[in-house]
Amino acid sequence: MDIKKQSSARGTAGVSFAARLSFQNISHSYASGAQTLRDVSLCAEPGEVLCLLGPSGSGKTTLLRIAAGIEAQRSGRVFLNEREIAGPDVFLPPEKRSIGLVFQDFALFPHLTILDNVRFGLTALSGEEAQKEAMIALERVGLEGYANAYPHVLSGGEQQRVALARALAPRPAVLLMDEPFSGLDSRLKDSVRAETLAILRQSRATAVVVTHDAEEAMRMGDRIALLKGGELVQVGTAEELYHRPADLFVAGFFSEINEFDGQVHAGSVETPLGRFPAGGLEEGADATVAVRLSGFQVDQERGSVPARVVSRRFLGVVEFLELAIPGADRHVRARVRCGQLQPGVRDIWLNVVPTDVLVFARQSFETSRESA
Ligand code: ADP
Ligand code: MG
Repeated sequence: MDIKKQSSARGTAGVSFAARLSFQNISHSYASGAQTLRDVSLCAEPGEVLCLLGPSGSGKTTLLRIAAGIEAQRSGRVFLNEREIAGPDVFLPPEKRSIGLVFQDFALFPHLTILDNVRFGLTALSGEEAQKEAMIALERVGLEGYANAYPHVLSGGEQQRVALARALAPRPAVLLMDEPFSGLDSRLKDSVRAETLAILRQSRATAVVVTHDAEEAMRMGDRIALLKGGELVQVGTAEELYHRPADLFVAGFFSEINEFDGQVHAGSVETPLGRFPAGGLEEGADATVAVRLSGFQVDQERGSVPARVVSRRFLGVVEFLELAIPGADRHVRARVRCGQLQPGVRDIWLNVVPTDVLVFARQSFETSRESA
């Protein structure tokens, strides 16, 4: 389908072409420091919202800077569709890449009107054209009424939408957003995030959105790429990463877990919460069993594992329990629906929900430290 035609038929400023952004074997280290990215290969498909997720310092911003052309990688190549835009023999400057960038603090110029802020990136156009395109971009984010106002009259969420309009105005093929919601308070975040997603869908740009928050990645991303210590750990849909995490790190990033160390015997691993199937692990292998905090059913009369309530904290829909379990050297944590246990109850029973148990080969101390 001709996206350009279709968009103009709707009277909106469509991005001409959504492009595929691909990274091939990207490695990078800054002059001053250790390796920041190791052999990252990743692809954002045309029109897709790809969330780049990882803890602070995992290399997310560096990867965006490399895509935008603000930083040149040490090795590897970046492609926009079939065109190499950065590699050993090529370096396209940022303004030639058709890649838009929204920074973490989405700084608007306080002394420029909202319209002029949006016009800022449209230097290639004549004054009149730039004015027209900037208005179209402002309409897209629903703020055309504020064209001649100054940024300080807008709320944080509205300012973020202006930053989005500024990035979309030149109709980039790919839009990169670096933790775009981190400056917003939590009540505002939900609505701004939903609006941003709707605008991205409408503009049909390919988007790479950076976040350190797994829930945000699940809310926004068609797919999620999880980085750790400069390495890509897993790429997939939210369901894939949640239900089939590649390792303990991924599991722990997507839900809070209790961990138990054990060994594989006759195809299963013994823990204080019972025996669990070892999946494909070999006989005798060291294993770590992860049990999600949500993976417990509690009962005052019967169950498979006895537990003593050490502490309870009311959290509204659920309550947070710390439990002493025979044979466990640490308290087991659980989140259960409120109202299932009477006030003051001490001795209870647990059942463990099998789908909330994940078994992994144990990572040695060195391996887990190296990649931390
Ligand atoms: P993230 O965005 O995931 O928090 P960054 O890409 O900002 O991670 O940083 C990854 C690593 O690179 C960190 O260890 C950080 O200290 C280092 N780093 C980032 N920017 C620079 C820089 N300009 N100079 C030197 N080291 C840097
Ligand atoms: Mg960052």
